[in-house]
Amino acid sequence: HARESGVNETVQYHEKLSEHIRQRTLIEVYLRTALQENQLLLHYQPQYELHTGALRGFEALLRWNHPELGSVSPSDFIPVAEETRLIVPIGEWVLRQACEMMKRIVPGSSSLVLSVNISGVQLLNHQFPALVSEILKETGVHPNRLELELTESTLMNSLEIAEKQLKKLQNLGVRLALDDFGTGYSSMNYLRKLPFHLIKIDKSFIQDIGNSTEREVAGSMIQFCKQLQFGIVAEGLETYEQLVYLKKYNCDYAQGYLFSKPLPEEQLLPLIEAV
Ligand code: C2E
Ligand code: MG
Ligand code: MG
Ligand code: MG
Repeated sequence: HARESGVNETVQYHEKLSEHIRQRTLIEVYLRTALQENQLLLHYQPQYELHTGALRGFEALLRWNHPELGSVSPSDFIPVAEETRLIVPIGEWVLRQACEMMKRIVPGSSSLVLSVNISGVQLLNHQFPALVSEILKETGVHPNRLELELTESTLMNSLEIAEKQLKKLQNLGVRLALDDFGTGYSSMNYLRKLPFHLIKIDKSFIQDIGNSTEREVAGSMIQFCKQLQFGIVAEGLETYEQLVYLKKYNCDYAQGYLFSKPLPEEQLLPLIEAV
């Protein structure tokens, strides 16, 4: 039987693999027309300041609804968009769309921040800083209301060019955040060298707070980042217990299902009016 089940496992493995390849190919083909066919939209997840409970702002998160594939997760289609460079036009659309949302529903006098995820492919495009500047002018959003989120892996691939681009963005007056902190190759050296304002602690460390032997890892990360003068956002806050510890660790801000899922634009107004 052992041999038979081994064969079955191999067959299953190949079936899974070919299903995966089929799915990947469909995503690639369908993604090419997703923008033109209005299948993309943004949801926005609120971020809160932990000590005051005040709304800090929103993170824009891309959603894709395809007539055949249904709703496709960003973790499945963003990598494809990056490989095909479709992330360049899609990312431009995201930035413009998110800034237009700010202009539509957030009063000019408000200090709420809009966070937008930026892929390495976009950052390394030498026209990117000019594009950001153009979109800000076009939509009238003040640069210090916009925060661009970048991941460590993005930066490590071409550190020198990334550094130059980040400096240009910093000169525009936009904020820069390091996303998914702890999952890449963070080194003290480049954390100090790059012009980030804020660090987002990856949700895996926030989830570990539920585990008494591992919760201190999140605590130490927060302490470490604070010593380097970064603002800190905890991602993926799901439980009251995690909230209690994050406050104890003096974490500045958090976002997660405990407060709210990412929401469609229509549902943001009540949150903003409550400020
Ligand atoms: P991210 O930037 O780290 O975004 C946080 C992810 O955590 C989002 O997943 C969000 O929906 C999810 N999340 C929020 N609260 C919770 C929680 O309490 N528990 C758990 N388990 N998850 C929570 P989402 O929307 O599926 O996006 C996944 C990733 O796709 C993002 O991770 C980001 O790297 C990428 N992405 C999303 N939108 C864009 C975009 O417009 N441009 C680019 N380049 N990447 C994007
Ligand atoms: Mg993010
Ligand atoms: Mg993240
Ligand atoms: Mg992520």
